[in-house]
Amino acid sequence: MKRGLLIIFSGPSGVGKGTVRELFIHREELNLAFSISMTTRTKRPGEIDGKDYYFVDRARFEEAIQNDELLEYAEFVGNYYGTPLQEVDRLRDMGKNVILEIEVQGALQVIDKVPDALSIFLVPPSLEELKRRIENRRTEDPEIIDQRLSKASKEMDLMNQYRYVVCNDDPQFAAEMVSLIIRRNIEATL
Ligand code: 5GP
Repeated sequence: MKRGLLIIFSGPSGVGKGTVRELFIHREELNLAFSISMTTRTKRPGEIDGKDYYFVDRARFEEAIQNDELLEYAEFVGNYYGTPLQEVDRLRDMGKNVILEIEVQGALQVIDKVPDALSIFLVPPSLEELKRRIENRRTEDPEIIDQRLSKASKEMDLMNQYRYVVCNDDPQFAAEMVSLIIRRNIEATL
């Protein structure tokens, strides 16, 4: 069995990674699996433990770091986020192409560690539009929104580290672009 691809799907918070991902992840020909991250952030309304994230406390997260359980991790606006390695390996060994939906510091760690990973960066049409999207989400306090925005402009400076950059002007169109990129890369490894 051919081992699945490792796909890094990154971009600033609020750009719409989750929305775009939902539009391509179930496409059968892409054979994708979503890697569920571990985080210390508190659950937002509607989020489900074990589906959106594994919600853990700081002690458990730090234990995971100590035990080398994570492929990458980062601290983002006061919380830890990380990718459990064992699950990613298991899915790839089953032939699944695994999607890591992660922020930039973590993405750069994976680009470094796994040179053949496929890296895709989703950009907003502008920082003004990003601000509007984060505010409309209404899930964060104004102070956290400001922190996420100031982080976003720094994250955008790093987009040249990725193999592909896709603009999320329209989610449907962005999802088409990402699907095409993944499909081409699957074909290239056959
Ligand atoms: P949120 O709190 O909005 O769910 O996530 C904040 C940021 O952390 C988003 O950019 C999200 O993609 C990213 N993120 C989610 N899981 C991981 C992970 O496992 N590792 C890293 N480095 N970032 C993650």
